[in-house]
This record gives sequence, structure tokens and C-alpha cells, in this order.
Amino acid sequence: MRLAVLKERRADEARVAATPETAKKLIAMGCQVAVESGAGLSAGYPDAAYAEAGAELAPDAGAALAGAAIVLKVRAPLAAGEGTLDELALIPRGALVIGTMGADKDAAGRYAAAGVDAAAMEMLPRITRAQSMDVLSSQANLAGYRAVVEAAGAFDRAFPMLMTAAGTIPAANVLVMGAGVAGLQAIATARRLGGRVSATDVRPAAKEEIKSLGASFVGYEDEESKAAQTSGGYAKAMSPEFLAKQAEVVAGAIAKMDIVVCTALVQGRRAPTLVTEAMVASMKPGSVIVDIASDAGGNCALTQPGEKVVTPNGVVILGYRNWPARIPAAASSLYTRNLLTFLTTFWDKDSSKPVLPAEDELVRGVMLTRGGQVVHPNFVAG
Ligand code: NAD
Repeated sequence: MRLAVLKERRADEARVAATPETAKKLIAMGCQVAVESGAGLSAGYPDAAYAEAGAELAPDAGAALAGAAIVLKVRAPLAAGEGTLDELALIPRGALVIGTMGADKDAAGRYAAAGVDAAAMEMLPRITRAQSMDVLSSQANLAGYRAVVEAAGAFDRAFPMLMTAAGTIPAANVLVMGAGVAGLQAIATARRLGGRVSATDVRPAAKEEIKSLGASFVGYEDEESKAAQTSGGYAKAMSPEFLAKQAEVVAGAIAKMDIVVCTALVQGRRAPTLVTEAMVASMKPGSVIVDIASDAGGNCALTQPGEKVVTPNGVVILGYRNWPARIPAAASSLYTRNLLTFLTTFWDKDSSKPVLPAEDELVRGVMLTRGGQVVHPNFVAG
């Protein structure tokens, strides 16, 4: 069974869908692994390391994909008109493509038309059994870490209190907005660096987690926030009235903040705007806002997705996209293990191929298309 790993071609992508370590394990499972030359370079994995692991190096995407039954990707394959190469057209019909597939109705339609079986790992149910394959968690965790490290780099003062013979530098005040996987890691990282950390969220469970990490909770609570968590563990979209009350509390705190890390997301919607232009105007020059919600529009009203901006009052806003790709070696290492675990979970040793039972909860959650048909319940027409 031939398995292809492509070089990721999207502009802000530096991760890779197999490392030499996972390639070796896939080969041990009976796969013939073909890696497009240069695929791992931006994540720190040279061609030679894949060759040493026993993989075949292919000179280009077409050569890697020829005859492939499984394709591993970080991001959705480029389709016609999306870039310099129509990757989707090169994938053999019938192949299983596993990655973060940009799961929406249009994408599902494209995969069905291309005749590929698309497994969208970002749709994996967040249940205990799926934890070791949960790409959203593994990547968000590193994004939260990286956000704080980049904030520290952009900050013109220090995170820890520094007592020196020449005087004392006070500790940085850090506010983390949204305490999910990324936010909790941001809290832990900012505390390790010596910042004075507070955080806000709307889910009651998040308040307890914030406190258990030693940060203080800043937020507004009422009957609506008591019911703010969906059965899937996500935050609900809050009412304009709630958001106005929350903004009042945040506005009181934010003027004293040196660093604001924005991570708040609401599944399937634009990220909530939690930091207004007036709040930014109240902050001190040299303060830093890192908005890792920028891929979903951002939590700060002045975030320009993909850009670093400095406001007239000297606040630095880092609105870069795709934060996991800013720490590509570690992100690839975890992402590729997530994919490997998914494959091994459904691997049939006798036939040396994956068997994906349609009735399995994880399979039902991730499969967008099968046999040229859209099968995901979210996108089936009608
Ligand atoms: P996410 O990326 O969807 O959102 C990030 C955070 O933003 C969440 O904590 C959310 O409550 C918060 N948020 C939304 N609107 C907000 C607002 N107006 N103000 C402040 N904060 C706001 O979330 P996530 O990191 O993917 O985690 C979502 C949930 O899934 C969490 O409860 C997490 O514990 C759970 N989870 C469970 C598993 C598992 O295996 N059981 C794995 C991963 C995550």
C-alpha cells in the first residue's frame, strides 16, 4: 500500500504530515512511504532523514502521488485555481486523504467530485478515546505556548520581576482571553516566565481551570454564563447583552495590562470581538496584544489577520495566522503522531490497510466523502 506525503504549498504553512519517525512506523506497518523531496525541510526534517527511515524520496508531488492509496496532508490539498499546482487533480481516485481538510460543504463537494475519501481530522469528536488523535488540541497547545513566547519577544520590558542593583523592573501583567486548550497553555507559559496572569472565559469549567493554574479570573458571570457550555464542551455564542457586560469588566482590567493573549473562539462562527478600539487606546505604549484567534477574524477589533500592526498609541498587535506553523518542528512532531494514531487505530494487520467502519463514532465524525459521495451528516445535501 503506497502512502504519499506532500510538501505543503500554502503560503503560511511550515509543517509536514509525516516525520522520519512516523514514516519509519508506517513502513513497519507495511506501507511503502513516498515523501516529496523537501517536504520536511521547513519543519527541520531534511530529505536524508526520511531516506534513512526507509522512505522513497519523490522528485515532485506527481511522482509521490502516483499509485498512492493513502495521502497524508497538514492542510487541504490545493484545488484548481488555488495555487501553482492542482494537488487534488493529482491524487489518485479512491485514495484516502487524511489531514485538516478545510471541512465545509464546498470542500466536501470537491473531494467527492475528485473521487477521494477525505478524512478531516479537525472534525474528530473531542471524546476521551480520540484524545491521542486530537489535532486541534495538539496544535492549539503549541499555539498558546508560541503566542506567549512571541509576546515576550515583542515586549520592550520583561515578564518576571527583576530586582537588580540598579533598581527593580516590575513583573508584566498578562491577560489571557479564552481559556480553552490554547489559553490554558498560554496561562501556564506566562506564569513560567514570571508574569502576573489573569484570564477570562465564559464557561464555568474554564474559571476553575484558570484558578487551578494559579491565575486570577476576570469576568462577568450570570445565568447565561452558567449555561455557556455546549454538550461538546465548546462555548456557546453569547448574547450582545452578555458581551456588553463582559466588556465592561474587561475594560476595567485591560488598561493595566502589558500583554493580552487572545484565544477565544466559538465553533463555526467568527471569533467574538472582546478587545475594542477604545480598550486598545487605554493601554500603555509598548504593550503587546497577540491575537491567535486571527484565523477566525480575531478577538481584537484592530487585529489585521496575517499582520503585525503598531497603533498610534504604541500598542503592538501580532495578528499572524496559523500559529502552530510558527513552531513547525514541535507542531509537526505532535500532528504526525496524531495521524499515525488514527491510522493504527483502524489498521487491519492482515491486509495491511486501514479499515474504517462507517458506524464508528470517530469515522463518522471525520469522513467527509467516501466512494465519490459526500457522507458527512453536516454536509449531506437535503
Ligand atoms: P475553542 O478553541 O473553541 O475556544 C477557546 C476558548 O474560548 C474556549 O475556552 C471558549 O470557552 C472561549 N470563549 C468563547 N467565547 C468567549 C468569550 N466571549 N469570552 C471569553 N472566552 C470565550 O476551545 P478549545 O480549546 O477547542 O476547547 C473547547 C473545549 O473542549 C474545552 O472545554 C476543552 O476542555 C474541551 N476539550 C476536550 C477534549 C477531550 O478530549 N475531552 C479535548 C480537547 C478539548
